Amino acid sequence: RRGGNVYREPGSAAADLFERARRVLPGGNTRTTVYSAPYPPYAARGRGAVIVDADGEERLDFVNNYTALIHGHADPDINEAVIRQLADGVAFAMPTEHEIALAELLTERVPSLQQVRFTNSGTEAVMMAIKAARAYTGRPRIAKFDGCYHGSYDFAEVSTQSSGKPGEDGFPVATPYTGGTPQAVLDSVVVLPFNDIDGTERLIEQHRDELAAVLIDPNPRSLGLYPAEPAFLQRLREITRAYGIVLIFDEVISLRSDYGGMQSVLGVTPDLTAMGKIIGGGFPVGAVGGSAEVMSVFDPTGGPPRAPHGGTFNANPVTMVAGLTAMRKLTPAEFDRLATLGQQLRAGVEEVLREAGVPGQVTGYGSLFHIHLHQRPLADYRNSVLSAQERAFVGRVHEALMGRGIFITPALFGCLSTPMGVPEVEAFVDAFAAALQDARG
Ligand code: PLP
Repeated sequence: RRGGNVYREPGSAAADLFERARRVLPGGNTRTTVYSAPYPPYAARGRGAVIVDADGEERLDFVNNYTALIHGHADPDINEAVIRQLADGVAFAMPTEHEIALAELLTERVPSLQQVRFTNSGTEAVMMAIKAARAYTGRPRIAKFDGCYHGSYDFAEVSTQSSGKPGEDGFPVATPYTGGTPQAVLDSVVVLPFNDIDGTERLIEQHRDELAAVLIDPNPRSLGLYPAEPAFLQRLREITRAYGIVLIFDEVISLRSDYGGMQSVLGVTPDLTAMGKIIGGGFPVGAVGGSAEVMSVFDPTGGPPRAPHGGTFNANPVTMVAGLTAMRKLTPAEFDRLATLGQQLRAGVEEVLREAGVPGQVTGYGSLFHIHLHQRPLADYRNSVLSAQERAFVGRVHEALMGRGIFITPALFGCLSTPMGVPEVEAFVDAFAAALQDARG
């Protein structure tokens, strides 16, 4: 690699692609999350732990398509399974044995799952979980946590960005994420304070008869990967059970934390779980699963289901064989290896911060990590919101890491993939030490 960020230079392939793209794609692409100012690098290809941009720059990929690519790029086993399936047809208006096999695998691994339904994205998985909870309980409203991201279903995206200031009652305010969100949508969502047992309990009690579901990501990326504290989650389980409210875990990202997902680590069993990312082997995917009793709302065998669930590409066999191959490769030993590497990376970065005298901390579990360049206690979720000055410093560190061959999200959130080992972790820690120096100037 040449070093530096070639894509930033005038006349680079990325600059040309961006100019061409922005005429036909608002902002030059199709995902808000992959834009970074003034324009992002464009991808050419990837193999294993390496992603190559359109300017020929190679970087170690710690984004892995926002955690979905747990086996990195172009995994030979997944490719072989997909190519075999391509020859047999890519989608049928008939179920296939492949979806049974993937559902069997998931129900064997994840404690709360008895039955599963597939979707094409995590957004849809969350959407179907919410609809299932409404159909099951006959209640209209949901509760979710302030500042948490769950994809772009209208109700789930309320307060994705925290309102910051609490309302008159001291509790978070339902805040639109998309312009023009109907007031009726905002009124349908009770916004809860993360890791605040008393506040959460009071709000749930207040709305107990109208709440179909409480939606929670047990280790939310958007709150800096600071997990739900065990006592908090335990209490949430008790009160939702007592009031007949469906407890939904969003494990779209956190399923990659362990063989049985984050719920097996935390020892709390939800009624429904939304999944996505790793279970599709790199292809578009989502799934909702849970107890057979709640999942029965999707069952059409006794007449029209309480929660109809269509989808032209649901459980398409290409995604199913890719997901099955990917998940089978994720043995308990492989999760352990990733967790050891993750621990090594987190400890290495903390040591670099200490030695450099830069205030910071690293959160994360298993193969996930998030570097914070401040030392405010993250137990209070509001502390994960950065000042303009902190954002600028994080931006400079990000730019320097990109220039030193590390692809990571602009928030300095990242993850490992199975093609990685100790050399990749050491390369990351060394690049981080150098990037910190670059960013301080
Ligand atoms: N939930 C969480 C916690 C996520 O991180 C995401 C995506 O990043 C989603 C839901 C939505 O998944 P998808 O992007 O597949 O729609």
